[in-house]
Amino acid sequence: MDNGKRVALYSVAVNVALTIVKGWLALISGSTAVLSEALHSLTDVVGSLSVWIGIKISRVRSPQFPWGLYKVENIAAVISALFIFLIAYEVAKDAFTSEAKEVVNIGRSIVTLGFLMVPVLLFAQYERKKAKELNSPSLLADARHWVTDIISIGVVICGLAASPYFPFADKISALIVIIIVLKVGFEILRDSIKSLLDASVDKETLKSIRDTVAGFEEVSEIRALNARNSGSFIFVHADIRLSSTRLKEAHKVADSIEEAVKEAVPFIERVSIHYEPIKKELTRYAAPLANKEGNISPHFGSAPFVAFWDKRLSDDVIVNEEIIENPFLKTEKGKGIKVAELIVDKKVDIVYIKESFSGKGPEYLFSDAGVEVSKTDLKKLSQLKEK
Ligand SMILES: [Zn+2]
Repeated sequence: MDNGKRVALYSVAVNVALTIVKGWLALISGSTAVLSEALHSLTDVVGSLSVWIGIKISRVRSPQFPWGLYKVENIAAVISALFIFLIAYEVAKDAFTSEAKEVVNIGRSIVTLGFLMVPVLLFAQYERKKAKELNSPSLLADARHWVTDIISIGVVICGLAASPYFPFADKISALIVIIIVLKVGFEILRDSIKSLLDASVDKETLKSIRDTVAGFEEVSEIRALNARNSGSFIFVHADIRLSSTRLKEAHKVADSIEEAVKEAVPFIERVSIHYEPIKKELTRYAAPLANKEGNISPHFGSAPFVAFWDKRLSDDVIVNEEIIENPFLKTEKGKGIKVAELIVDKKVDIVYIKESFSGKGPEYLFSDAGVEVSKTDLKKLSQLKEK
């Protein structure tokens, strides 16, 4: 079991123990405030349990549920929240329609509740420390909530202490605790419904994801970036333009982006990245020439000249052209590879040839670099340019 899950489980156990002790105190004291406080701990059980169950259930996959069962956690939380409201309503109704009951065993209840604060404080400290170590927002939220619990117990103790002198003190403190319970229940309900409706993650989380993606120098544009909660997890979708035109390289960059995002933001389950190469304005062509007059050479490595030209995509007008002497003409070995390397270095998109390479070095080099090789039967450079 990983560390975060274990801490979440400890939190469940502490809340279950608190619910039992407070429930027992409510029975022996007859105090409505203590009863609401027991209800409060029960809602905290629901809160801490939902994250833990969510992590377990979400891993289940089947052909009927290929996207996982992440939202089971949210459905369970909605049902729990409605259940919390129902109990809160019952306790509130009982508190405000019935006569003030005599509260008994006041001393014992106050001492026991006072003692309960000790494990709560210790556990809160432990959980806060762990949450920071694990960089876990949900654990940190849980750890912060213990402050509310201490205040809540304090309110109940005050109510109990005042009840012999002021009979309605117990009911007033019960009302305060019920307000706390309703607030917690409302937050659970709100967050769950947001997840069920695929609401976006909060602005801070989204910004930190965006900053991570934008931090890659290969990313030239973020066209769209969305992230949603599902259960305790976050799913990210990014639509980006990459400066690299090579498919393999682009794939590698996408993988690194995914890893970096998962490292920057906890609880990210999946990052799907749709990428396109940067939008180009020109297409660059190359062809081997037999002479300066523009006859296309049937040879590749041993062609005396190489022509390069750029065609503007918007109107098919040729904007640059250049014919160079083949600098490797006198090289003994590997002329083809050397010329191919030169063409790749010049960032050519399409190279025209007369005879296919059929498994020779240049073919692999071009395919690796993402250069398109096109076979042509045309004889003149001018015909190629008009194509
Ligand atoms: Zn609480």
